[in-house]
Amino acid sequence: MDDSCTLPDQAAPGTGSDAAGVSPQASQPSTASAGNSNTDPNLNGPLTLRPGHELPFVAPSSYLRPKPSSRTMSDKTSNPLDKDQMQGLRGIREFLKVRTSYDVLPLSFRLVILDNDLLIRKSLNILIQNGIVSAPLWDSRNGTFAGLLTSTDYINVIQYYCQFPHEIDQVDQFRLSSLRDIERAIGVLPLETVSVHPMRPLYEACRRMLKTRARRIPLIDTDDETGRETVVSVITQYRILKFIAVNNEQHTMLLKKPVREIGLGTYIDLATANMNSSVLDVIYLMVKYNISAVPIVDKDNRVMNLFEAVDVIPCIKGGAYDELTATVGDALSQRAEDFGGIYTCSEEDRLDSIFETIRKSRVHRLIVVDDDSRLKGIISLSDILKYVLLYGEEEDDLQEY
Ligand code: AMP
Repeated sequence: MDDSCTLPDQAAPGTGSDAAGVSPQASQPSTASAGNSNTDPNLNGPLTLRPGHELPFVAPSSYLRPKPSSRTMSDKTSNPLDKDQMQGLRGIREFLKVRTSYDVLPLSFRLVILDNDLLIRKSLNILIQNGIVSAPLWDSRNGTFAGLLTSTDYINVIQYYCQFPHEIDQVDQFRLSSLRDIERAIGVLPLETVSVHPMRPLYEACRRMLKTRARRIPLIDTDDETGRETVVSVITQYRILKFIAVNNEQHTMLLKKPVREIGLGTYIDLATANMNSSVLDVIYLMVKYNISAVPIVDKDNRVMNLFEAVDVIPCIKGGAYDELTATVGDALSQRAEDFGGIYTCSEEDRLDSIFETIRKSRVHRLIVVDDDSRLKGIISLSDILKYVLLYGEEEDDLQEY
């Protein structure tokens, strides 16, 4: 589900519904429960685990059902796995070229748009109250779309506060329209404001997201009569991959090469933290590496949990910037009741089973672990989107986008 949308009970044909998600607890690998033990020696104090939060790990292979092979006998002689893999990727690319961004939207959804004049402090409460993690901004003076508010903006405000701690009163008075000034003051490159027309091919939205490293893209239309911009919705990488997973099983089932073999994800120079790290340390890692999540490991590099950029939002609720010195363990224990858990896979897992997991659950990234739950790598949705769109493509074919 798009983070700014609510799916109706009956989703649009072909869009699927998050309600189909399988309970993560049901397929819990035995090693994973160590990650949430409230007796873990790395914790400052006991982590309070609410009912339903005890077993947050899911392995995608547990979703993998045997599928009939579409391969013919003659394929077997010529590297059938590679052939199938390319056939699957081409099928998905063709699909993305004939469908539009509009097709990804559910029949009805909720869209929260924030006025650029709103105090940043108040915008936080609105996001939390509405259970969303981003929102399009609107410049009501000029009647134009003014960009997308995301957790990165709050991380920038935190950096500003850290660099200019004596200006806390001023930070409290910042409006959303000041976000660009904050970027300049802390010396980060402004994010490219990227958008797409809802009726353009979905492939185009994907290419723009990859080019700008945006994890979500607003759909902007122009009113025929007034010529004014209209924000239609926002689609996320997760929404797009789910759309592929739900509507393209005949192609995703061909992606049978192990993630190790196709080099999917990042395996070296991983940014990690432990339960005793401060929230501020983890934010620093996210900024330094330009990433949206940091695996939390124990002293043996076993994966305990994951701190995501969106976990920053509740930490600064009510302008509590001084509470960022709290530990990751404390911050993660505040997660919402309906937190879906984190998802793991092994290097032997294949993209077909990952798509199967995305089809059934709200997955934002997969942590690659070995048999002892030790961290091996991380696969982000951007890694999957990049592989699905670009692997094996000739430069010339990509020029037009
Ligand atoms: P993301 O920010 O999740 O879209 O990821 C952007 C890129 O950084 C992807 O290629 C990921 O594989 C990689 N990545 C994500 N998390 C980490 C991490 N904790 N350490 C190193 N690389 C990461």
